[in-house]
Amino acid sequence: MEKKKTKNFRSLSAKMMNYTVIPLFVLAVLVGIAGSIFCKRAMISMIEDEMTQECDYLEGRMDAMYPGDYSWVVGEGTSFTLYKGTYEITDASEQLDVLKESFNNDFSIYLGQVSVLTSCKDADGNRYLLAEAPTTVRKTVIEGGETRFYSNVTVAGEKCFAYFRPIVNAAGNSYGMYAIFHSAAQINRRVASVIIPLYILCFVTVVALGFFSAYFSQKIVERIVAVKRFTESVAGGKLDTDMSAVYTSGNDELAQLAKSSVQMQLSIRKMIDYDTLTEIHNRRFATGYITKLHDNAGVKADYCIAIGDIDYFKKVNDTYGHDAGDAVLKMTADVLRRNVPPGHLVARWGGEEFIFAFREMTPEEAYQILENCLAEIRKTAVSYEDKVISVTMSFGLAKATAGKSVDEILIDADAKLYDAKEGGRNRIVM
Ligand code: GH3
Ligand code: MG
Ligand code: MG
Repeated sequence: MEKKKTKNFRSLSAKMMNYTVIPLFVLAVLVGIAGSIFCKRAMISMIEDEMTQECDYLEGRMDAMYPGDYSWVVGEGTSFTLYKGTYEITDASEQLDVLKESFNNDFSIYLGQVSVLTSCKDADGNRYLLAEAPTTVRKTVIEGGETRFYSNVTVAGEKCFAYFRPIVNAAGNSYGMYAIFHSAAQINRRVASVIIPLYILCFVTVVALGFFSAYFSQKIVERIVAVKRFTESVAGGKLDTDMSAVYTSGNDELAQLAKSSVQMQLSIRKMIDYDTLTEIHNRRFATGYITKLHDNAGVKADYCIAIGDIDYFKKVNDTYGHDAGDAVLKMTADVLRRNVPPGHLVARWGGEEFIFAFREMTPEEAYQILENCLAEIRKTAVSYEDKVISVTMSFGLAKATAGKSVDEILIDADAKLYDAKEGGRNRIVM
């Protein structure tokens, strides 16, 4: 079937993709980005808490072991002697090594602006003693007396998270600081260990949702396209087009739309094939029916045609009026329809004439059916307003004969009807 697409045609399928899969993908990317930002923030905040607790531990431990303030005596060159209270703790860096073992962080203690105890060592194993604190840290923490957490400092060439807390003497003045350093690479690995599964989850969810969304969109589009093709076909005049039951079963809107389309097709077919007054088949339908019947019967010619005509019908109209005539026509059609068995044809041939086609039937069998019709018409009186109207009918019955055309058989039936009229009406001639 040729697809007619207007200039601005945009397939529903592409639109559905635009409105479902693409927003879903964008949403997933946003969730992924927001998730990683929040996750990293939460992780950093957690690390700050951890470092705060570790600093509490370091400070508490130093104060418990060596009560008193830090002080130092500078010797020659880089030598110095460190005290806390009355204890000499120049070699207490080893205590910080123990903490490093436990917490996996580096610990340093600064006096003034230089480190006096530290677990940080260079590649040769020498401690970073007397290393200067960065100016901003010194100003904020030691001089300003504020605790600080940094998520991006460089210590000995390595990116670190750093926590600094001022050391305050008995008089309340800060004169040094505790420092804890945590390798950023390690933290990034921890963040990655949370974020990567999050990304994978996001990706899998998007792929799954995208797949289902596309699948169901496609299914809906397929059903819409089926109804579209069907209505296009009906609109193009093909009234025998079939709609698969797959599309009309179910009870959602699309199934209802499909059912309505089929209903519409049936209504159109009815309008074309049926007579509006009597509601039996019309001449158009009867002509097609008889032609088909004739072609199928072939040389067997095993069918009969009859034409029936209401007697003195003009008189009914003249006496009782046109509407009364219509009521008689309806009654007559009703009687005929009830008496002609299924599988055979009765149709309004025009005016007060009716046509019959009896397939695979002898004229005697057909005669019997017509006789039943006539008997019932004779005894059926039509009440119209305050009048009671009775009519009779005449029939001409012709048997199909091999070699005769449909027209010839019809002429034969008509001739017999004429004979019935001439013979006194109210009878069947065959
Ligand atoms: P005969 O016994 O020879 O058949 O006589 P008749 O009066 O039945 O035949 P005639 O052909 O003279 O008249 C048929 C009448 O049927 C004429 C026409 O006005 C009427 N008629 C045709 N169609 C309709 C219809 O749809 N409704 C009504 N009420 N009358 C119709
Ligand atoms: Mg008549
Ligand atoms: Mg007539």
